[in-house]
Amino acid sequence: MTLSLSNPALFIERALIDGAWVGATSGATLDVDNPATGAIIGTIADCGEADTQAAVDAAQAAWPAWRAKTAGERASLLERWYALVMDNLADLGRIMTAEQGKPLAEAEGEIRYAASFIKWFAEEGRRIDGSIIPAPEANRRILVMKEPVGVSAAITPWNFPAAMITRKCAPALAAGCPVVVKPSELTPYTALALIKLADEAGFPRGVINIVTGQAAPIGAVLTGSEAVRKLSFTGSTRVGALLMRQSADTIKRLSLELGGNAPLIVFDDADVDLAVAATMASKFRNAGQTCVCANRILVQDGIHDAFAEKLAKAVSALKIAPGDQDGSTIGPLINQAAAEKVKAHVEDALAHGATLFAQAPEGATGARFARPVILTGATRDMLLASEETFGPVAPLFRFTHEEEGIALANDTSFGLASYFYTENLHRAFRVGERLEAGMVVLNTGGMAMEMAPFGGIKQSGLGREGAHAGIEEYLETKAFHIGGL
Ligand code: ADP
Repeated sequence: MTLSLSNPALFIERALIDGAWVGATSGATLDVDNPATGAIIGTIADCGEADTQAAVDAAQAAWPAWRAKTAGERASLLERWYALVMDNLADLGRIMTAEQGKPLAEAEGEIRYAASFIKWFAEEGRRIDGSIIPAPEANRRILVMKEPVGVSAAITPWNFPAAMITRKCAPALAAGCPVVVKPSELTPYTALALIKLADEAGFPRGVINIVTGQAAPIGAVLTGSEAVRKLSFTGSTRVGALLMRQSADTIKRLSLELGGNAPLIVFDDADVDLAVAATMASKFRNAGQTCVCANRILVQDGIHDAFAEKLAKAVSALKIAPGDQDGSTIGPLINQAAAEKVKAHVEDALAHGATLFAQAPEGATGARFARPVILTGATRDMLLASEETFGPVAPLFRFTHEEEGIALANDTSFGLASYFYTENLHRAFRVGERLEAGMVVLNTGGMAMEMAPFGGIKQSGLGREGAHAGIEEYLETKAFHIGGL
């Protein structure tokens, strides 16, 4: 272990199955590296089908007692978990930066954000209620009850190694569902540390299980199992579609949070400084590796040049450096393939007539570091118009009329986040209502917060996370008819 932690017990290389920290039955392991240096941080258990099945069986066995607990009892455990996460914030941040690459300040920010879901759903679990519907006969009552869906699987990506775990597990647990978590094999240690803290908080044996390793065999068991009633996945649309197909035979409940291709529209009547600050936050967080990062920046003629100049100035203040270095704002990309995709998108755009308008100062130059760039003259025939770049590339598309801006924004198969900037109230409503996205963001930079529903339409997915909607994903509706009264 190359990490220096105040609590070294948080660095775990085993899986948690039925209350025991274990290696894979086969003894197989996988290496995990640090994207800033390529150095191996450690190994994880390469759990196969049998280990995953054991985790599912443990969760299934734990379900009756877990669902029978009161909401208050479940809330107490979640509150204890929340407190432990906050107490270990610095270590969790260090683990995340080591395996994921993001700057330490961003990593700590993500831990706080991750913890916020635990707290929110501890509270929200107390507010699962039902209703009574007037019946067609005087001696009948119709009660509508909410019940936990059952064993829930969570498959999570590498770009938010902590928040995607808690955004799924906290509502599932609060609703009375046991969980089997499979974190990304690229960033397993943050997840393992979080689950270790949950274990310390005192969740009963089998209620929380985590399996690590190669994705396909684990995914096959989780999707194929009848005992698993619900799958919540965050990741690529390609894998989301695959898991949906694999889940078809068992008619599983699904929440899918998939790719985006977020437009960010700057209208002539925008507050340009606000639009620049919001673009910086949206575009360059996690070096551009978030599903809500602005992928296409659509700028109206009248404000285009002023916006581009100010954005260039802001980009010149970025610092490309390993995430554990002071002042780093742009860490490495997750792997070589990610760095190559960014390069390919920029080359393709330049070959199709874009101009390299500005770039961040040179910094760390390792193979996975990408230099933030602003491209002007972007058009819809470029790769970066139709695919998520997932890197620090800010392409500016120019448009003239409002209608054209809206059409460009909606010209994608995705519909996760859309951002726009205007000071005109009429335009704010006109545009906001027409943007095809699960989340529309006007005159600010972010939308990821525990109390607001997060999710997409079109090929960006199904279901919502966060808010009360986030716990509904783990509840079934039962109509209870009582006659002969
Ligand atoms: P990203 O592009 O963000 O890496 P992926 O969709 O590849 O997204 O990965 C998201 C999660 O899905 C990760 O935990 C990954 O291991 C998992 N995954 C990838 N392929 C499969 C699969 N065939 N079955 C189950 N999970 C998978």
